[in-house]
Amino acid sequence: MPLEEKQQDRREFITDAVRTTGVVAVVGSGGFLAGRRTEGEPMVWQLDPDKCTACGNCATYCVLDVSAVKCFNAFDMCGFCDICTGYFEMDYKSLDTAAENQACPTGAILREFVEEKSGQRYYEYTIDEPLCIGCGKCVEGCALMNGSLYLQVEHDRCLDCNECAIATACPTEAFYRVPASQAEILKRRAATVLNARGKQMERVAGDDESKRREADALLARTAKQRDWREKQALEDANRRPSDG
Ligand code: SF4
Ligand code: SF4
Ligand code: SF4
Repeated sequence: MPLEEKQQDRREFITDAVRTTGVVAVVGSGGFLAGRRTEGEPMVWQLDPDKCTACGNCATYCVLDVSAVKCFNAFDMCGFCDICTGYFEMDYKSLDTAAENQACPTGAILREFVEEKSGQRYYEYTIDEPLCIGCGKCVEGCALMNGSLYLQVEHDRCLDCNECAIATACPTEAFYRVPASQAEILKRRAATVLNARGKQMERVAGDDESKRREADALLARTAKQRDWREKQALEDANRRPSDG
């Protein structure tokens, strides 16, 4: 069965509440209100997961004892893999939840059986966010497969430092000031998948107001991502030294 069909199947087992947990946690409620203002809009620090190489600096350079950067799982990209390369240590002894077999140094990733289909077992991986130290080890492992695990600044924890110590240390310049009303930076692929889902939801919503609102919210979320990326591409191009 093609991967996208498998993912669609898995999605039937996961509630919208679970799927959007990451977004709620990233956007939070209090942290970004402290953000600096540019042209009237409060701004917050966020990292671009497409640029992040999971170098480990997010865990060690944050001024907080436990980093404000946390891992999230983009469920729409996740393969619900039995042998998750983000969950299991490279040299695991067996495919179980024993600490010695887990890649995560703090045991922050929860593995839960979803279903067995055509002899294949599928598992859901969620992050116990307070346990996550933002080390990126799971992100690096997951990049070998679907790349659904990614890092984001969690705004309820972030102190919104004037100069983010991680941004200064980041080897790939992945950190940006983003409008608080956006607050997250999705991987391009995740935004594309979510946009397609939003359009499909819109098509089947009919007269159901709550489904329409849900579709609208999803499309608005992905539109913000598209607008930010376009604006960022322009700014990057303007910063490039001229050939002359
Ligand atoms: S410092 Fe940059 S490259 Fe390293 S984990 Fe953080 S965002 Fe990723
Ligand atoms: S980023 Fe590090 S601490 Fe957080 S879930 Fe992944 S492996 Fe665990
Ligand atoms: S702004 Fe400060 S608190 Fe927030 S992630 Fe960067 S160093 Fe940590």
